[in-house]
Amino acid sequence: MLIVMHHKATDSQIDAVISAVERMGLVAQPIPGSERTAIGVLGNKAYVDDTNIRDLPGVKECIHVSKPYKMVSRDFQPRSTVIRVSGHEIGEGRRPVVIAGPCAVESEEQILRTARAVKGAGADFLRGGAFKPRTGPHTFQGLKEEGLKLLALAREETGLPVVTEVMSPDTVGLVARYADMLQVGARNMQNFDLLRELGKIRAPVLLKRGMSATIEEFLAAGEYIYAEGNHNVILCERGIRTFETATRNSLDLSVIPLIKEFSHLPVIVDPSHATGRRSLVPSMAKAALVVGAHGVMVEVHPEPEKALSDGPQSLTIPGFERLMEEIRKLEGFLGY
Ligand code: PEP
Ligand code: MN
Repeated sequence: MLIVMHHKATDSQIDAVISAVERMGLVAQPIPGSERTAIGVLGNKAYVDDTNIRDLPGVKECIHVSKPYKMVSRDFQPRSTVIRVSGHEIGEGRRPVVIAGPCAVESEEQILRTARAVKGAGADFLRGGAFKPRTGPHTFQGLKEEGLKLLALAREETGLPVVTEVMSPDTVGLVARYADMLQVGARNMQNFDLLRELGKIRAPVLLKRGMSATIEEFLAAGEYIYAEGNHNVILCERGIRTFETATRNSLDLSVIPLIKEFSHLPVIVDPSHATGRRSLVPSMAKAALVVGAHGVMVEVHPEPEKALSDGPQSLTIPGFERLMEEIRKLEGFLGY
């Protein structure tokens, strides 16, 4: 529930409402605004009976929030969240970030070569999977901890912070020792034990949209991490499954402005998994920035034809360099 106070409500009226909420065994979270103060009510498992609240002095209205997410919603926090990670800021009003790197870490040579190249072209973060959630069990599953060590080596050499996927609650500690930002893949968006475990750490989490998840389910997944105490959550649209087979997924770009209406969390776009085709990645990366994404994540491989996963959608190094030049021009146009 959200309790909206009159714009002339006094501090003591606000305090009285907070006490009334707390007497009901619930948590009151004041949300000051330029027009009026609101008070978010948290901790209820079911509908909150507002009879003891709605007639208190200074209360304008009680809004019952029927959505499965609250704390990540704009109603609860009108101000956009900006997340600081390893010297970068991700969020509204900040220059969009570029996360680049191979689908999977394959060898020391491959990750170092890619890291140096994407750093030289201007990327902000290095990506690369060490634990890979592959559709079938007979394909490359990632180098696991060895891959994490190679990512740390690449960070040491280039200074690029590292984004890598964590697949299970029991490896959160391990991955967090190496990564600057932990990724939850589309296939794990509703792995609630994993989300809860990630809520207990403070490292930023990049939460990818499930391939058939509605926006409500996506934001509710973010709420799992946020409500557990980790407020460093960044959302990532990576395409959804539709009837179309010409592209790997269908990139739902309208969710970017829509998520920004519904939630205060930053949101980025992954055009690589969204399209599955190298030729479409630059156009969709730029389109994402035009519609307001706070960054893009793209797959880059020094020899895509030899990649152990996602070669057809990986940009070559020269292809990534061209994209970065185009993004720099676009940023000027967008005012960054
Ligand atoms: C990835 O980023 O490498 C990945 C597996 O993406 P998704 O979870 O979006 O399929
Ligand atoms: Mn991939």
